[in-house]
Order: sequence, then C-alpha cells, then structure tokens
Amino acid sequence: MELKPIDILSKYYGYSSFRKGQENIINSIIDNKDVLAIMPTGGGKSICYQVPALCLDGITIVISPLISLMKDQVDNLRASGIEATYINSSLSQNEYLKILNDIKEDKYKLLYVAPERLDSREFMDLVKDKNISQVAVDEAHCISSWGHDFRKSYQIIPYFIKKLKKRPIVTAFTATASLEVRNDILNILELNKPDVYITGFDRENLFINIIKSSSKNRYLLDYIENHQNESGIIYAATRKEVENIYEGLLKRNYKVSKYHAGLSNEERAFNQEKFVKDEIKIMVATNAFGMGIDKFNVRWVIHYNMPQSIENYYQEIGRAGRDNEKSECILLFMPGDVHIQKYLIDVGIENTNRKKIQYKKLQQMVDLVHSNNCYRKSILEYFGEELKEDCQNCSNCLSEGEITDKTIDAQKVISCIFRMKRSFGTTMIVDVLRGSRNKKVLEQNFNNLSTYGIMKDYSNEELKTFINTLIAHGYLEVVENIGTRGSYPTIRLNDKSMKVLKGELKVQFKESKVSIVKYMENELYEKLVELRANIARENNIAPYMVFGDATLNNMTKTYATTKEEMLNISGVGEIKYERYGKYFEDIIEKYLIEKNIDKNEVIKIEENSSQDSEFFEVTTDKDLFEKLKQYRIKKAKEENVLSYMILNLTTLKEISGRYPLNEEQLKDISGVGPVKIEKYGQDIIKLVKEYTQEKNITPKWQEKNKLKLIIDGDNRKNSEIVLDLLNQNKNIDDICEELEISISTSLGYVYDYIKSGNSINFNLNLKKYYSDDEREIILNAINNFGENNIRKIKYVLPDEIKYESIRAVILEKYL
Ligand code: ADP
Repeated sequence: MELKPIDILSKYYGYSSFRKGQENIINSIIDNKDVLAIMPTGGGKSICYQVPALCLDGITIVISPLISLMKDQVDNLRASGIEATYINSSLSQNEYLKILNDIKEDKYKLLYVAPERLDSREFMDLVKDKNISQVAVDEAHCISSWGHDFRKSYQIIPYFIKKLKKRPIVTAFTATASLEVRNDILNILELNKPDVYITGFDRENLFINIIKSSSKNRYLLDYIENHQNESGIIYAATRKEVENIYEGLLKRNYKVSKYHAGLSNEERAFNQEKFVKDEIKIMVATNAFGMGIDKFNVRWVIHYNMPQSIENYYQEIGRAGRDNEKSECILLFMPGDVHIQKYLIDVGIENTNRKKIQYKKLQQMVDLVHSNNCYRKSILEYFGEELKEDCQNCSNCLSEGEITDKTIDAQKVISCIFRMKRSFGTTMIVDVLRGSRNKKVLEQNFNNLSTYGIMKDYSNEELKTFINTLIAHGYLEVVENIGTRGSYPTIRLNDKSMKVLKGELKVQFKESKVSIVKYMENELYEKLVELRANIARENNIAPYMVFGDATLNNMTKTYATTKEEMLNISGVGEIKYERYGKYFEDIIEKYLIEKNIDKNEVIKIEENSSQDSEFFEVTTDKDLFEKLKQYRIKKAKEENVLSYMILNLTTLKEISGRYPLNEEQLKDISGVGPVKIEKYGQDIIKLVKEYTQEKNITPKWQEKNKLKLIIDGDNRKNSEIVLDLLNQNKNIDDICEELEISISTSLGYVYDYIKSGNSINFNLNLKKYYSDDEREIILNAINNFGENNIRKIKYVLPDEIKYESIRAVILEKYL
C-alpha cells in the first residue's frame, strides 16, 4: 500500500479530513473485513469504498442499480484522476470491447456494473481470475423485498461472489435504516462477520423549515425570486400540481423543468440531465424524481405538499446540500395536504395491511408537522437516533418569525363555530365572522349571532389562512362529508377547541418569514462559475465535478492565485489542481488587476470586518458631491423631471466618497442600475476622473459586498431619520423633500412606528392628502382587503387616488 487513506483523500478529492464514520469504515475494509454501512443520503458513502479501492491491490467492482448514476460516478472519479470505468447497456460494442481489453490489462482500480451483468458468461470469464480486492454493493437495500426499491437482479450478487476464485472483501452501503432491510442485506449477501456501521443520520447542514399558515404560492414565488442563482427542487404530491407550478414559473421566465411519471422516459432523462448540468436551476417534480441523481449543489428543497411519510420526507430533503454546504428545506403545509395523501393511499394498489402501515406513517408525518419541539430531534428519534440538544437549525428551534399570541382571535372563531351549531365549511364561517350580508348567511339568521362581524379587521384571505392554521395545529378539525356531488370538508370542534374556549389552553403561533439570505452573489464568483461551466462542457461532465460551489466560494474569499493557496482550499486536490487550477488562478489574477485589488489588504480588511463590523463606511467628498449635484440639476432640466429621479442624494454621496472609475465599479453603488448606467454612466465616470486627476487623488477601489452602507458616520435608516426629524417638529413635506423620499413612504414609516407600540408627540395634518369622497372609497377598500394590503387597495381604486391618500386614511385611525 503506497498511500494512506488520508493522503488519498487529500490528493484525489482535495478534502482535508474524513467525515463522521468514514475513517472507521475505510479502516475495516483495508483490514480485510466485510462491512455494512448505513449512512444518510449525502453522508459520503462513495468515498468509503473508493478510498479502499485505491489502497488495496487489485480492482474493486461496484454494483450499482442505475445507469445514469454509474456514469456520473465514473466521470467524477476520472475528473479527480482515478482510473475507473463502467459496463452497462448504454455502451457501444466497440466501447465495450475496448473496456474488456483494458480490464484484462489491469488498467482500472474501479469498475461499476449493473447487477444484471453479473449473470453474463462473458463477464464472469473475464473477471473470475482477476485480483478482485472488493465487491462493493451500492444501494444495498435493493436486495430486500422490504425496501422501497426491491430489485430481483440484486439476488444474483451472492452467486456471483461464490463463483469467483478468491472471495473478495464484500461491502454493502445503503441509506435505508429499517431493521428488516438490514437483516436481509446481511443474510442474503452472506456477509462474513461484517463490521456494521450506522453513522449519524443527522444532516447538520440542512435547515429544516416547516411552515403552516402561509399562502403557498406567494411564499414560493418570493422564495424563488430571492434565490434565483441557486439550484432547487420543488416537490409536489400530484402530476397535476407539478404541471401547475411548472407552468406558473415558466410564465414568469424562470429556468425550470419538470419530472413525473406521466412524462416519457426520454423527456425525463433529458430534463434530469439539464438540471444536473446546471442548465436549469429549478426542478418541479413528484416523488418519482431524485433516486440516483448525483447533484451536490442543490441549495434548497421546497415541499409544496406534505409527503406521505417521514422516510419520504427525509430522503427527499436529503437531496439538498450533499456538498455539506448550508441548504434550506422548506415544507409548506396546508391541511388539504393530508387529504391528498389519504386519497393517494386510498386509490393505491397496495393491500390492506400495507395501507394500514401507510396510514400510520402518514399520521406520524402529520404529528411531526404539528410538533412544537425541535424538528430535527423528532426526525432522528423516528430513525432511532438520539439528539442530546435541540438543533438550533430548524424553524421550531429558531422561530424565524415571532411568536404571537392568537388566543383571543382563536376564541372568536371557535365560539362562532360553536354558535353556528351545525358543521359548515370555511367560507361560511369566514362570512359570518366578517359580517357578510350574503344570502345564505341571512337565511340561517347568522346575522343575529353575537359573533357576527366580530373579525372584520381580517381580510377574507387572512381569515381563511388563520382558520387553516388553527386546523393545522389541531385546534379545529376537518371532517370529509360525502355528498351527492362528491366529498366536501366541514369544520368541527374537538377537545382542544373547547379548552381554548374555556381559556385553559393558549394559542401561540410562530410565523415564519421568507428567508432572503442569498447563498452567493458576487462578480468574481459568477466568473468562476462561468469558467467551470465551460470546462464542464468541454469535458462533457457536470459542473460540480470540476469544483463544488463551496470550493469556488472559498476561492473568491481567499483570492487564491498560487498552487499552495489553491491546495489549501477544501475540494482542490493535487490532481484537480494539475488539470484545472491554472485556469481558475488566471481568472482570479485578472480580476485582481482589473479591479486594482491588493489581495493582502482585502483579506486583512475582511478579517477585521468579520470580527467587529458589518459596515461599509463612506465619507462624502463635499466638492465632488457639489459637482454631482450640479450635474443632476442640469440633467433634470433637460429631461424635465424632478432631480431625485435622476439619482438620489445618497447615491451621489456614495459616488463622491468612493470615486468609481469604470462601469463595473459604478454598478456597485446603491441606486445605480443598468438604466442609469446607460443614461449617465459615462458622464459620471468622466466627472469623477477629471476631479480625481485635478485633485491628485488616487482612489483605491473596494467592493461593498453585502455590507451595510454608512455615509458620514450616520447609520440611521431613512425611517429612523424621518421619525427623528418629525419628533423635532419638522414639517413632513420639508423632510420628504430634503431626504428625497415620497410622502407615502414617510407615512408608512410613521404607521410602522406606531404599530410597534410607540406613541407620537407631533402633529400631522393628514386631511390635506385626501378629499371626503376619496376617504369613503378608500375606507371601503381597506374594509375588504385589510390595511396591510396597500398594493391591492391601490389596484382596485381609481388611478387618480394616490398611495399617500391611502396611507393617510389608514394612519388617521391611529392618531
Ligand atoms: P452519498 O452518501 O449520498 O452517496 P456521496 O458519497 O455522493 O454521498 O457524497 C456526498 C458529497 O460529500 C460529495 O460531494 C462528496 O465529495 C462529499 N464528501 C464526501 N466525503 C467528504 C469529506 N470527507 N470531506 C468533504 N466532503 C466530502
């Protein structure tokens, strides 16, 4: 044995340490022991048999069920400089013969085959006398009829092994943890006193976010809008739902693809390939998608519907973050999901016993969703693993949103349902609570109930969502009624509802917010991604096989431009460095020159800034600022618009303090987008150039990255400045003019200020912003949509009613 496992890990894979469990598994194999290893998806199984394959004399045969998986694995190994190949039905006769010949000549360390191949005479003749160091069985659960993916062909494996001249080490790998499957693997494969490893099922890098009470569509769209540059999977329960989401996203111009059992094999393979190769970012799919896809940089998985069991859920979210980078898993839950899954079980082809098990698993999934404890702890418990502390990386632990006490509102709803006596659907309950004059409401005399109209402050949608949230948390129950025109759900009270009504149980919800953290977005990173895509295309491999996202991210942080610096980055091994390192170094080098960046300076600044500040401080250059203002006035006149519409003051201040000298730099100034660059870019750059030359200033450019901008030491937000000035009794119109913000924005700040519990000591003359007639129709719209839905209100009102009038009418209530 020439190299030690850790050296192999570093040389070929570029990783500096083993993950939990890997080293012990590898040592067992090198010690000549059979092994059964159960590791979660993304846990790093492949390395466990690949590293021993390189340590041991002879060839390792890897048995793998999926052709696409095989090719990816082999491409990946070759990209890392490891001699590997595969045999399956996709090869042409010529390719096949060449590979057979190369095997004869011992050219490979790893050979991947599908189980069916083991039955072939030709194959047997070829390998039986070879020095086979290890037979590694991947996805070993396929051997068990208890598993979710039983394959008869796997049962050939033990016969094949027996026919070999010398019994190799036999190793088996799976992510399925159940006892029945485990025993089947041990027995059917006839493992010889194996070392059995069950390594951590915890996938610490996955943020588990379960969201009830949100409007799914809106959440989905917001999320995607904020994560456009990342790969993600949206799982939905039915083909129809997949098609709907797919169409919706396509219409909004997202690069999206779809996958479900209703598509042809070719279409599915084509769509999958595009996703794996990063050509499209979003995959919308049913649970048919995912098995055997090798894509490491999936940054998020959204479940648009709740899956049928915790196993399904964990397997599906396991497809995120296989590169061990932080990734987000969001389950959007609505009570209707339970009905969909029940229905799918009902119409399924399983026998009654299996169906009973499925119902039980479904219930466990529902319990998980409603649980108030650490989600990760509950899931791991389900898999028989104990997590000592709460994870602090799930929505229950972190409570992304705020905890709000909704007991009183819940009591209103429950008491109303109680008074309505018979069971009704959500729409009717909402109508009564909001005081609708709808015919059905009046026919039932519900307008005489004391609860009639007591929740007018909710909009229709808000109230529906609230009732659904109560159902999701088990405070109300849904009953399916079978009528002549199909089934319809009604709402009923249960023990928990009665406890809430009597004040014995509090109703508290955590309301999650859309995360707007973007994974990575900077110019150099984009350049490296582009280079990676080109290299991948030329070599006909997937981009992540060149380098993973985390590796590129590290390159941008360290500005690595030497071999030593590159090899220090996780994911860059010697072999990959020899192949691709130089190209990446070149791009980084060019970037540093182009941007005039002194690498050592920047790294120092970043180290300091990560310690003590997240701010990017800029000091206005007063003279340049004046010149820019003059320029702005000139342009405003030419275009016949208000000055601030050209560029706002903060932008001018930022320009004056940072001296951008080209378009790239100008782009990094807040408030300067492509349109402004096109219109004023050259003028501004010329102005700054002339000024800096005249004053003999040599600007040192620094990227702002995502740091918060502070100009002239004032780190107050506009909202804080407005409130400070109002409190000093300044006139709101003057303030708006000075800060160049609209009246409506300022009134919005005042509203938020009051809503967060502050009282105000200044006068506002709101009446001047609306007429009596306007006030009436605005109030009407507020009544319909709730006061938080300003956009909608504006949308339904006549065009001439301005935002500031709407804001003023809303605010009036609070003054
Ligand atoms: P699975 O268990 O799902 O088969 P893989 O073997 O495909 O997982 O590994 C998942 C990812 O983790 C791959 O990108 C792999 O290179 C990476 N990985 C595995 N071991 C390590 C390690 N010791 N250090 C860093 N990354 C690792």
